[in-house]
Amino acid sequence: MAKRVYLLSEARGLSRDLLGGKGFGLAEMAAAGLPVPPAFIVTTEACRQYLRTGEVPGLWEEVRAGMAALEGLAGKPFGRGEGKTPPLLVSVRSGAPVSMPGMMDTVLNLGLTLEGVEALARATGNPRFAWDSFRRLLAMYGEVVLGERAEVFEGMLSALKAERGAGTDAELGPEDLEELAYRYLRHLEARGTPFPLDPWAQLQGAIEAVFKSWQNPRARTYRRIYGIPEDLGTAVVVQAMVFGNLGEDSGTGVGFTRNPATGEKGLYGEYLRNAQGEDVVAGVRTPEPLERLKGYAPGLYEELLQVAERLERHFRDMQDFEFTVERGRLYLLQTRSGKRTAQAAVRIAVEMAEEGLISREEAVMRVEANALPGLLRPSVDRDKAPKPFLKGLPASPGAAVGHAAFTNEAVERFHAQGLPAILVRPETTPEDITGMYLAKGILTARGGLTSHAAVVARGLGVPAVVGAEAMRVFPDEGKALVDGVEVREGDLLTLDGGTGEVYLGAVPLVEAAGEALLEKLLSWAEPHRRLGVRANADTPEDARRARAFGAEGIGLCRTEHMFFQEDRIPWVRRLILAETPEEEAEALERLFHFQKEDFKEILLAMDGLPVTVRLLDPPLHEFLPPLEELARRAEEGDEEAGRLLRRAEALKEVNPMLGFRGVRLLLLRPGIFRMQLKALLEAARELKEAGHDPRPEVMVPLVADPKEVERARALAEELFLEYGPIPFGTMIETPRAALLAAEIAPLVDFFSFGTNDLTQMAFGLSRDDAGKFLPRYVEEGLFPFDPTERLDEKGVGRLLRMAAEEGRKANPRLKLGLCGEHGGEAGSVRFVADLLDYTSASPFRVLTARLAAAQAGLARGTPEPA
Ligand code: PEP
Ligand code: MG
Repeated sequence: MAKRVYLLSEARGLSRDLLGGKGFGLAEMAAAGLPVPPAFIVTTEACRQYLRTGEVPGLWEEVRAGMAALEGLAGKPFGRGEGKTPPLLVSVRSGAPVSMPGMMDTVLNLGLTLEGVEALARATGNPRFAWDSFRRLLAMYGEVVLGERAEVFEGMLSALKAERGAGTDAELGPEDLEELAYRYLRHLEARGTPFPLDPWAQLQGAIEAVFKSWQNPRARTYRRIYGIPEDLGTAVVVQAMVFGNLGEDSGTGVGFTRNPATGEKGLYGEYLRNAQGEDVVAGVRTPEPLERLKGYAPGLYEELLQVAERLERHFRDMQDFEFTVERGRLYLLQTRSGKRTAQAAVRIAVEMAEEGLISREEAVMRVEANALPGLLRPSVDRDKAPKPFLKGLPASPGAAVGHAAFTNEAVERFHAQGLPAILVRPETTPEDITGMYLAKGILTARGGLTSHAAVVARGLGVPAVVGAEAMRVFPDEGKALVDGVEVREGDLLTLDGGTGEVYLGAVPLVEAAGEALLEKLLSWAEPHRRLGVRANADTPEDARRARAFGAEGIGLCRTEHMFFQEDRIPWVRRLILAETPEEEAEALERLFHFQKEDFKEILLAMDGLPVTVRLLDPPLHEFLPPLEELARRAEEGDEEAGRLLRRAEALKEVNPMLGFRGVRLLLLRPGIFRMQLKALLEAARELKEAGHDPRPEVMVPLVADPKEVERARALAEELFLEYGPIPFGTMIETPRAALLAAEIAPLVDFFSFGTNDLTQMAFGLSRDDAGKFLPRYVEEGLFPFDPTERLDEKGVGRLLRMAAEEGRKANPRLKLGLCGEHGGEAGSVRFVADLLDYTSASPFRVLTARLAAAQAGLARGTPEPA
């Protein structure tokens, strides 16, 4: 039968799957010659068998043999002291192959009994320490193995302190702790879960509890959310205890081999003298920075420096390690790759590659591409931040401080005084664009990650938190309410669009840094990228910014945003109201000139690169003021408002998202189609005549049928006759268009997947309302992630793959792109990296798309040239 218990010295070369992460790390450290207390590991295989059959024949014999070996290595007998020799005590911990909160954590001091306590007191000459160790064991074992609530033990401790008039634990003497231990024992006895006063029974109970904790509801939920297989099982690490609380020459600490916040190389961490690890966690005493050791324990500091160096050389990554010093001797208890900020991740990856510790390719793979946009923006200084008073969805990264403003006009007022404003709205509509543009941050009560506010904020590069459902906004009264707290116009707010947190008042921010390092990393990544990366940009400024971030063109220019500008909206409204062909022609003529100038500027900003212009998409009523406002104005005798009101009522739709918009509107109001396309073609012609190199492409939204495409193409061809042809494409954003891709493909030059609408329609969930419940779906583990943020590969991805493959088969020259918000999300980009020609992302997320596409190339192996 396969061995199921391994000493560290036997575990070298065994897999992480078998040993679990913790066991693997310890075995590696031991192999690297680092000082690790003796330990053995019960394998994940044993756990799997136990969970299958409820027993593992022969396991306890193996465990006994393992313990005998530990006794030999430690020179102490398990659970029993002998004369001046203290008993061997162990820690028992779970350790799954992947880091996984939710399972049983740790039992310390295991093996102690009433006799053991006496022996420990004798051997150390420190009865207080002995009883303290015992009562800690009882509480931990009582909680994690016997299932009592931690608060019960804490309550009993507080009660005893109160009886003794002690302010802190430290004021309790050995007799007090002895009394506490007996109370714990009696309590556990009385509740029918007696504490086993036999070391072997304790050990068996703890190991079985670790096995069973794999099935905890919390652990299961975590696995479901993160897609961790159910059948991995957990290993159990049984390790000889070392004590950091044996006096001033003992202690415990944590170290990072580089600064996890900035990435700066150098030992970083904290140390607590005369304490056990949990004291640090409990925060009872404040640890001191490791630096201080230089002063009073230079030898130890030097040793830690060497340990850090060796850990990094061995693990080839920044490590986060735990250590204990027992009477001057250093022991390492754990190491793992350290968590780090995005900024630190980039710096560590680049510097490690430059130090020759890892390859450049590894450096590229190590950085989380989704974190890049946040790197270029400030964030809230978490060390100085109070508790957030509101939380929403992190829609556009970066932090902002400003005065609450509930209307466009309020934002403009602050702006005119040179003051920063935060636009606070129930949700945003295209009418809010000026406010959104001028605000330093955007906060909405409703909406998901692809709501108008989120999409526009990302495009503008303005930090935003959306869907903060706990907030109620009353724009007319100039206030918002959050759990009874009132925010008035002008009150200072701070929001962090990277975390979704909102604070009252001005919270200090930390500036972004590390652009040079990021550039270097991207320069290493680029050769591995096959997928093209374009940007979603509606303004010349966006286009210029996107180009600076490395965009290779525009994949989506939403023309409606141009309609909302102040000088245009009256003409858009006349267009909507037009009752005669002449009136319509006049409005179109005006708009034509505006659009042409806009297109010229955008084409110029992207000179030499493709610019895909999408013809008008939203329903017309979006360009009219809200009905209530029109009704009020009409009542006051405003005739124009009266006409608009009648028109708005006629245009009103129950479900405008699925209504008279996109290609439907363009085909039935062909004047708009012609005006827009002509403006684009003429803009390009004028630029070309001036010696530039414009590359326009035109695209129609929301088609569901080949006939629609055919008709649209025919309209376009009329103009191509005069101006010469440009690439003509369609969005694939309704499920039916995806299903009929083979019929649509021969009619166009390109497809651009609109995964926002495709997701909305495939799931049947409104992207504007999803913020109300999707986050909860994710929390509850019903969905592994939010599909409006990251592409759902199984469903929407299947539609996309099918349409891409069938489309290309029907038209081998077909170009394929993606322009939904997923185009700037790393996981989604990796999914389409081999499927499409390009992805298109909002300007800041161009960086994410570039890195993710390169990572996909590296993961695949051989990069092919584009
Ligand atoms: C889409 O639907 O994915 C898309 C890009 O268009 P919009 O977000 O403007 O609907
Ligand atoms: Mg769409």
